Amino acid sequence: MLLKNCRYIITQNENRDILENKDIRLAETIEEIGDITPRSGEQVIDCKGLIAMPGLINSHTHAAMYVMRGFSEDMPLFDWLNRNWKVEDKYDYNIEYNSSKMAFQEMVSTGTTACLDMWDPDGVIEAARDVGIRLKAGYVVINDKLEEDKVKDLISKAELPVIQPHAVYTVSEEYLVKSKELADRYKVDLHIHASETREEVFECKKKTGKLPVEYLDSIGFLDKNVILAHLGWVANWEIELIKQRGAKVVHCPASNMKLATGGFFPYKEFKDREIVVGLGTDGPVSNNSLDMFREMRMMALKQKDQYWDPSIKAQDVLDTATVNGAKIIGIKAGRISQGYLADIVLLKPNIHMLPLYKNNLISNLVYSATGDAVVKTIINGRIVYDGHTDYSPLDNIKDFISLLKNFK
Ligand SMILES: [Zn+2]
Repeated sequence: MLLKNCRYIITQNENRDILENKDIRLAETIEEIGDITPRSGEQVIDCKGLIAMPGLINSHTHAAMYVMRGFSEDMPLFDWLNRNWKVEDKYDYNIEYNSSKMAFQEMVSTGTTACLDMWDPDGVIEAARDVGIRLKAGYVVINDKLEEDKVKDLISKAELPVIQPHAVYTVSEEYLVKSKELADRYKVDLHIHASETREEVFECKKKTGKLPVEYLDSIGFLDKNVILAHLGWVANWEIELIKQRGAKVVHCPASNMKLATGGFFPYKEFKDREIVVGLGTDGPVSNNSLDMFREMRMMALKQKDQYWDPSIKAQDVLDTATVNGAKIIGIKAGRISQGYLADIVLLKPNIHMLPLYKNNLISNLVYSATGDAVVKTIINGRIVYDGHTDYSPLDNIKDFISLLKNFK
């Protein structure tokens, strides 16, 4: 496939070059960038006036919760969780699959090409495959449920497997340690919510004498295969531990603000220590959008505001959603460079993004664009979004939506 005459190509390469009026040749990976003559029979897409950028990577989400959007509003995390769990108990494969399918369609239609999803993955994996999005997925360890056979099964069916203990307040020490042992044995990553609320931190301190990240380190859990989401209440010495162990971190600004978890995700401290920082929307019930363009705006504004420092750059934020996200997912993506996966988004600048020129392109993308500007999403060299969304999955879960509608 040849993307011909791209007005701008945001490469996200080492120099963060932005190319003008160039072409991209791709198969499953990116083969060539420059002035390229089409081969006979080659599929050519006219990209005149379009922006080509690397697909965005959502590093923390719960796609299967799509159907519950707007269900639990205006309440703190623990009340919110308890309300959601009451209906999540009724989930079956059908709900999981169709709800996730809608979420993945929302993601690809707004420029996301890969995500790290925390949910029991059976229906989720199928939905991702049918939509064509890259998925890092795995069983959630909660209330001490973790079977080695399921981990083995997961590895056989998930492209990017991960073990996902929910949090320090929902998983016992025995099962946190067991999760880590299995992750090491099968060479997969661990993904956990950590230090999200003050209540979590206080409870952990009361129970273990340690803060959550400190505690995870003390039981041998914190390591380079660990991805920590949220970290709104993390101490300086915990940031050092994260650095020493080589763990990665994910910022979920909209979810934190909506659930009013307070605190402060210390982006600058992480960045200064070269800790990999990704960006996630969290699930559709705590955001309530899966549009990573909106999330980038949220992150930029929140970080500037909390540090009283406007120097945090749009480029830094774009990096969290592209090159850093690729490190978290564990794929060679996030860049438009030769040899990288052909996960590319094409945008048509709309009224929110004008005037547009090379020097304001990145800030207009981060502060002004929304996913509505996306006209095509390409994953693994295949067009997975071309302006069309299939809404039929919602018809397949009508009964569950009625249950939510009438829930007291
Ligand atoms: Zn979450």
